[in-house]
Amino acid sequence: MSDEVDPFESLQEQIDDAANYVDVSADVLERLKRPERVLETNLAVEMDDGSVEVFEAYRSQFNGDRGPYKGGIRYHPGVTRAEVKALSGWMVFKCALVNIPYGGGKGGIEIDPSDYSESELERITRSFATELRPIIGEDRDIPAPDVNTGQREMNWVKDTYETLERTTAPGVITGKAPDSGGSLGRVEATGRSIAFTAREAFDYLDRDIDGASVAVQGYGNAGFNGAKFVEDLGARVVAVSDSSGAVVREDGLDTRAVKEFKSETGSVTGYPDADREATNERLLTMDVDLLVPAALENAIDADIARDVAADVVCEAANGPLTPEADDVLVEKDVHVFPDILVNAGGVTVSYFEWVQNRGRFYWSEQRVNEELESIVVSAFEDLIERYEASGAPNLRTAAYAVAVDRVVDAYEQGGGDWP
Ligand code: NAD
Repeated sequence: MSDEVDPFESLQEQIDDAANYVDVSADVLERLKRPERVLETNLAVEMDDGSVEVFEAYRSQFNGDRGPYKGGIRYHPGVTRAEVKALSGWMVFKCALVNIPYGGGKGGIEIDPSDYSESELERITRSFATELRPIIGEDRDIPAPDVNTGQREMNWVKDTYETLERTTAPGVITGKAPDSGGSLGRVEATGRSIAFTAREAFDYLDRDIDGASVAVQGYGNAGFNGAKFVEDLGARVVAVSDSSGAVVREDGLDTRAVKEFKSETGSVTGYPDADREATNERLLTMDVDLLVPAALENAIDADIARDVAADVVCEAANGPLTPEADDVLVEKDVHVFPDILVNAGGVTVSYFEWVQNRGRFYWSEQRVNEELESIVVSAFEDLIERYEASGAPNLRTAAYAVAVDRVVDAYEQGGGDWP
């Protein structure tokens, strides 16, 4: 993984590339390239032994032209202000591409959660929720899970917010457990959009997903569920990995069994029904039909990209390619389907969760999955139409062109900046 690339600069480059294919003035574009505001806070939290530890935390509200800010909260030692800003920008364009009525936001705490007890994590999360309270709300900014956060943390944020506000407002956060107002189908939603996009991509390229070989980097929520659903489409998932390394089986791994093994042992490595083990770098350069990077941003730099042998890449993680790696893959005619489409299932079902919370009426899982499929397929069609009509050099630029257009339209229809 390359640590040298500033993810915020990557985002700005992507917006500039798209601007060549959109009718937008330089000043409006400049505004689109920066967050509206960023909260930076230091959480002083009591540990189990009575000591106090301080954690840096951020919330970036990038753009609210199309609706409330929306985006996850990440717990990771690598969280920085630049990363949170970039991730919040990607959310703006992701929501616009799939055409859901949200802007973009993102938050994070610089922490390795595995170093803390559950009660410490609860106090840390409630402290962050207290800091966030003035700037979030059902119609203002709606956080969600991201790396190393899930239903448990979302339930704590909701409870803290509702207690302080003396109300019930389940739509203040999404990714909650179903009994706390969460939607059915949310946990698997990102995996479903990965598989829907892979299916549509192979169809568009006149290839068969049934029997295709697939390598998946990262075996968390996005990676595992994506692997599971492409396996259900008939693909052979020949390699998967996590931060400890990769396992490979040419005939195809049983994705659910690998997940069970990881849940029991903490890692995919050592999975007994594999031909061999490998490094993450080896996985990324395997000769497969489809590569799914589903770990963290900048996983593939230019050096790795030169050795990538996959024909199609579906970006499940946010920003898994450095801009240089992106250029290398375009040069090599690798078809890269961009993150803002591939992993949009999570935010789309978050939107369904919020709709259900606001209406206090809950949908069946079947309805959730059907509505999700229809949104992802429509976005895929919008992207391909723009790609073919605009002459954009790659799918990512075309995706940003669709999204930037929609955000600019909303901004201009609102009369621009006022007063
Ligand atoms: P997660 O914490 O559930 O899983 C992350 C996985 O990546 C883990 O298996 C971890 O071991 C692995 N990993 C970490 N560093 C690695 C490395 N250097 N090499 C290989 N594997 C490594 O996180 P997640 O929710 O699956 O998110 C993964 C990516 O997908 C992130 O970029 C996230 O922003 C994006 N994403 C997730 C969702 C969602 O709904 N979960 C939605 C949209 C985007």
